[in-house]
Amino acid sequence: MITVLRIGHRPERDKRITTHVSLVARAFRADKILVDTSDRELEANFNGVNDRFGNGVILETGISWRKVLKEWEGTIVHLTMYGMELEEAVASIKAIQDNNDILVVVGAEKVPGDVYKIADFNVSVGNQPHSEVAALAIFLDRIFEGRALRNFEGKMKIIPSNEGKKVVEE
Ligand code: SAM
Repeated sequence: MITVLRIGHRPERDKRITTHVSLVARAFRADKILVDTSDRELEANFNGVNDRFGNGVILETGISWRKVLKEWEGTIVHLTMYGMELEEAVASIKAIQDNNDILVVVGAEKVPGDVYKIADFNVSVGNQPHSEVAALAIFLDRIFEGRALRNFEGKMKIIPSNEGKKVVEE
């Protein structure tokens, strides 16, 4: 099971990025998303996608990240451009992953130093600054060996097409 923990979320500034982090987590086979700051609008937007495209992923906001990190019993992975190299980290994580819940932490602005210390793995997706959205997507896809993308059973189903939009609605 994979849980994504988004820390440093500022509802007034990070609305779109945190929504994108959550949707990427949902589409790339994470099971749960935790956001540190309470944000009812984010919850409503995310649940709207679940309603239309299919349920199965939970989003909770207003979570104490310190408590989650302290109490986590599985592997804690923190995505940071300063971290160890991705390929090496994924191999090590997969080696211990059996029956082990993974918590993937992504930041917003400056990430508190404690997070680096508590994490079992500080992992970089390249050593250039880019985006938590991209870092999360690539990390999940590597953990799932290139097969992270998934579909849901929902009211709306998109039929892949090269010509226009094909959508089946219940
Ligand atoms: N400057 C901030 C810091 O020192 O922690 C990071 C800001 S960055 C816009 C927001 C988040 O994107 C980071 O906390 C990290 O999770 C993720 N991120 C950005 N670039 C990354 C990279 N190259 N590898 C892994 N994660 C990255």
